[in-house]
Amino acid sequence: LHCGWELKHLLRGYEAIVKQVNQHPNKGLNEEVLRVSLQEVGLKSRPECCSIPPPQYYAQIISEMETLGWDKMVHIDMEFQTLKLKAEDSSGRQHMLTVRLKAKHPAEAPECSADLPVPLSVTWTPQSTLEQLYSQFLLVLEYLTEFWDVLDEIDEKTWILEPENPSRSDTMRRIAIGNNLSIKVEVDPRHPKMLPECCLLGAEHAVTPLRNKLNANMHLWNPDSSVLHNLRDVLEIEFPSPATHEKSGFSVECGICYSYRLESAIPDQVCNDPRCGQPFHQACLYEWLRALPTCRQSFSVIFGECPYCSKVTRLHLNTYSQYISAPDCCTQQSLS
Ligand SMILES: [Zn+2]
Ligand SMILES: [Zn+2]
Repeated sequence: LHCGWELKHLLRGYEAIVKQVNQHPNKGLNEEVLRVSLQEVGLKSRPECCSIPPPQYYAQIISEMETLGWDKMVHIDMEFQTLKLKAEDSSGRQHMLTVRLKAKHPAEAPECSADLPVPLSVTWTPQSTLEQLYSQFLLVLEYLTEFWDVLDEIDEKTWILEPENPSRSDTMRRIAIGNNLSIKVEVDPRHPKMLPECCLLGAEHAVTPLRNKLNANMHLWNPDSSVLHNLRDVLEIEFPSPATHEKSGFSVECGICYSYRLESAIPDQVCNDPRCGQPFHQACLYEWLRALPTCRQSFSVIFGECPYCSKVTRLHLNTYSQYISAPDCCTQQSLS
């Protein structure tokens, strides 16, 4: 077959068909028809061909990376479309910025993502570069430094029951106070040293004195001090820490299924009776109480006997802190 190199290239793998076509030269097939139909076949079977950016795209990225510094790059995919850039904040924490470039880069803004507690919004114009994008990311990291300092101190000096492995975007910590007693705090990334949203979790007889202290001492909250220090002062307690206690003392397994984690849930329901105080998963206790012939339900509260002490216990449905009945257990006040 006499044809140009492009067509020869396209025909690679189709030799048998070409031979067949050539044996019937009078059937109206010419080089042009063949080229068009083969191109269609080729494009249909390899759809990514359509989205391959022009050569300038690659030259642009290489030049932008040279300005930014290749040492910042941790990964780039084969298509040169997704790159991961590493960064360090002023406290020495490592962070990762994932950038998904568009085929029309830099005319079209890339998609950026990172493990942050706030949405990452970047300003992009057709003249923007990866270096400018990276500088914006560093500013966001700097803005969040105080937030991460607050949480790092809590993670280091207390036993965290939830989340199991906190990520940089997690704003919630459930901190162990004692056996079956914990406090859930929700730190605001924008005001990390203000009084966070707090929720005490545990049996009522243990929660009530702490809740009273929290309400009475709230005015002592000092926004210049860390959240951990303030919590100690306001609650008048020392938190058990990895230096003084074993975690196993706080991760008591569920009295029904005998495990600690049930999917992601931990046993956060505690028997009302101060002498019992056995913890259960909400789902396990719900199934248990519902199966009892003596089970009663009043609105969203289920009553029934505790499988351990046989005293009547109750389960409030559809709330995280269902165990605590007083509505003022959760504080949303802020000292701002
Ligand atoms: Zn369970
Ligand atoms: Zn009990």
